[in-house]
Amino acid sequence: ATPMSIMVATGRGAQAGVLIRDAEALERFAKVDVLVLDKTGTLTEGRPSLTDFVAVGEASEERVLALAAALERGSEHPLAEAILSGAEERGAARLEAGEFEAVTGEGVRGAVDGQSVALGNAALMADLGVDLSAVEGQVAELQEAGKTAMLLAVGGQLAGIVAVQDRIKETTAGAIRDLQEAGLRIVMATGDSRGTAQAVARVLEIDEVRAEVSPEDKAALVGELKAEGHAVAMAGDGVNDAPALAAADVGIAMGTGADVAVESAGVTLVKGDLRGIVRARHLAQATMRNIK
Ligand code: ADP
Ligand code: MG
Repeated sequence: ATPMSIMVATGRGAQAGVLIRDAEALERFAKVDVLVLDKTGTLTEGRPSLTDFVAVGEASEERVLALAAALERGSEHPLAEAILSGAEERGAARLEAGEFEAVTGEGVRGAVDGQSVALGNAALMADLGVDLSAVEGQVAELQEAGKTAMLLAVGGQLAGIVAVQDRIKETTAGAIRDLQEAGLRIVMATGDSRGTAQAVARVLEIDEVRAEVSPEDKAALVGELKAEGHAVAMAGDGVNDAPALAAADVGIAMGTGADVAVESAGVTLVKGDLRGIVRARHLAQATMRNIK
């Protein structure tokens, strides 16, 4: 493409809130045929809110929420914020947790009143040898509603379930439909559980879902698709998406997300609106057509 046509395209993109780093990103975009999408903060608002807290066993619901909040005070995860503000709104008691430890991709651990306490996903509970069979049905039901269910263990025993929900962005469904109509293959990749991921995918009519994946798995997925001969774009917002954004032919960052995501990306959607991908693709293809 001529420098002039690229300048025009990137200028139009910028006006529409789509920042395209350079000519190379624009050229690569025109060839993309597979789009990998992170869920939390990319398809969804990324601001989950507390919806359920359930006691299992002796502890009261109030205690379950207070213990969960005590642990999350040490965490910077979006899930932590949801639990902390939910606990505050509901007037839960303020408990102090010691020996705090964040387990990446699994949850948080600590000690309250001399007892070990943990909150997180099934993998974390498996690490601790906590039996989940009594709540499998309840957890599945929460996940089918698109909620993220976290399990609370106290002293090595299951004590409760805490769930949050993150709304799908208003603009997401339309953008996905347009991208599918344009012939792009769409794959969702998320660290969240299979049940929750599938519930969101069902609403958005996304057929391909990779759930319970680590940041490295997301990057490996991008690598696999490239090895199959695809030109791959990856869109994400988080620190944990940076490796996959860097691995993709075109990394697309939500401007509303983490700085490292933006730094790893060739394209930035300033307002975090996925319709920007549709627009960037039009611009890229129109620019490339003009050169021939
Ligand atoms: P995502 O890719 O959706 O941002 P992560 O890889 O950060 O997810 O986390 C995967 C899962 O681990 C979460 O869905 C949650 O169940 C659990 N988890 C991670 N951090 C926390 C936390 N601070 N509190 C509770 N659960 C957590
Ligand atoms: Mg995310």
